[in-house]
Amino acid sequence: MPRRQTKRGAERTPLAGDYDVLVCGASFAGLAVARELAGSGARTLIVDRYEVGERQTSACAAPTEWLEAMGVGASMRQTFDTLVVHTPHTTVRFRLPWTFSTFDYRELCGLLYEQCDAEFETATVNGRSATTVQTDRGDISAPLVVDALGWKRVLSGSGYQPPSAPLSRGLEVHPFGASDELEIWIDRSYVPAGYSWRFPAADEVRVGVGSFDPRFHVKEPTVRLAEDLEHEAVRYQGNWIPHKLRAATADAIFFVGDSAGHCLPLTAEGIRTAFYFGIACGRELRRVVEGRAEPATALRRYREFSANHEWQFKWMLRVQKLVPRVPPRLLATALGQMERGGFVDWSFGHYLNIAHPSFAQAPAPAIGPRAELRAAA
Ligand SMILES: Cc1cc2nc3c(=O)[nH]c(=O)nc-3n(C[C@H](O)[C@H](O)[C@H](O)COP(=O)(O)OP(=O)(O)OC[C@H]3O[C@@H](n4cnc5c(N)ncnc54)[C@H](O)[C@@H]3O)c2cc1C
Repeated sequence: MPRRQTKRGAERTPLAGDYDVLVCGASFAGLAVARELAGSGARTLIVDRYEVGERQTSACAAPTEWLEAMGVGASMRQTFDTLVVHTPHTTVRFRLPWTFSTFDYRELCGLLYEQCDAEFETATVNGRSATTVQTDRGDISAPLVVDALGWKRVLSGSGYQPPSAPLSRGLEVHPFGASDELEIWIDRSYVPAGYSWRFPAADEVRVGVGSFDPRFHVKEPTVRLAEDLEHEAVRYQGNWIPHKLRAATADAIFFVGDSAGHCLPLTAEGIRTAFYFGIACGRELRRVVEGRAEPATALRRYREFSANHEWQFKWMLRVQKLVPRVPPRLLATALGQMERGGFVDWSFGHYLNIAHPSFAQAPAPAIGPRAELRAAA
C-alpha cells in the first residue's frame, strides 16, 4: 500500500546515492520492471512525481489472468466474461474465451510495489545527460536507467507533440454506481473515430471516450455519454495514448510502456503490455546486475524483443484506421456475424497472444532467430 503522501516543500530534500538501476515512473511499466529485479541484489530506485498509486492513469481493465500472474488479484473489483458492443444499429454480446477484470489502481500499484525490494522517492524527472537523470530534487546517476514515464518519453530527445503525433486521446469520469456489464460503444455520435466505454468496478463505473484522432476533443461526448447513462460526470481522468510502437531503447536508456508506444492500437489496451514489456526489460536488467550480460547486450536484446512485435502493432493500427471507415449498417451486420461464429474465440485468442500472461512465469524470452547464436556468444 502507498506508504506516504507525495513529499512537499521542505520535505523535498535533495536526492543522493549510488544505484544500480534507476526506474523513472511508478505505474504499470515501471513497477513491472522493478518487480522483476527483486532478489537480484541490485540497488534499485524508483522515482515518480506522485506517490505509488496516487494518480490513476487508466480505466483499469485488464485480462484477469494477467492480474493473477502478477500477484495482484486482490485488487480486482469485477470480472466479465462477456463484452457488450453497442452501435447505433445493433447490440452484440461477445462471449470471451478469457475474462477481463477491473481493478483498483491504488491497490494494484501497492501490491506490485510490495513485490519489489526497490527504494521509492517522489521526484519530478526533467531530463537527463547520459545516464544521469535530472529531477527537481537533484541529479541521480545509475548505469541502468529506465524511462517508464508514459507517452512524453521524458528521457528521450525526441518527444511527441500532440496533436500532430501518433497519439489517441482518452478521457473518463468515475461516478459512483454499479453495472453488471463491460460495455463499449462504436457510435460516431460520440466519437467519429474511436470508441466509448462503461467499465464497472464494484461501487463505481468508469465512463469515457477515446478518440484515435488527437484533434477531436472528448470532453463534451464524455459528459454526454455519462448523462445518457444517467451517471454524474465527476472525478475526471484523461491522457494521451500512444498508438505507434517506438524504439524501446535510445542511447543507453530503456523505454517501457507508453514511453515506448507499447499500448495496443485499436483497443488502447496498455496495462498488460506495460507488464509484458516491463518484465522483458526487467529480465534483461537482471542479467546485467547478476553479471551475466553487458549493458550493451541488454539494450540490444530488449530493443529487438520489442521490435519483434512491430508487425502485430501495425496490424492493430490498420484495423484502427479501417473500423471508422466502415459504414455503420455494414459494421452492425459484420458484428452480428462475428457474434455467431467461432470468430470471437479465434480473434480474442490471437489478441491475448500478443502479450500472453504465461510470459509472467516464463524463463528469459527468446527474441528471434538469431537469439540463440547471440546468447552463446
Ligand atoms: C482514459 C484512459 C483509459 C484507459 N483505460 C485502459 C484500460 O482500461 N485498460 C488498459 O489496458 N489500458 C487503458 N488505458 C491505457 C493505459 O492507461 C496506458 O497504456 C498505461 O497506463 C501505460 O502504463 P505506463 O506505466 O507506461 O504509463 P503511465 O501509467 O502513464 O505511468 C506513467 C508514470 O510516470 C509518472 N510520470 C510522468 N511524468 C513524470 C515526470 N516528469 N516525473 C516523474 N514522474 C512522472 C506518472 O506519475 C505515472 O505514475 C487507458 C488510457 C486512458 C487515457
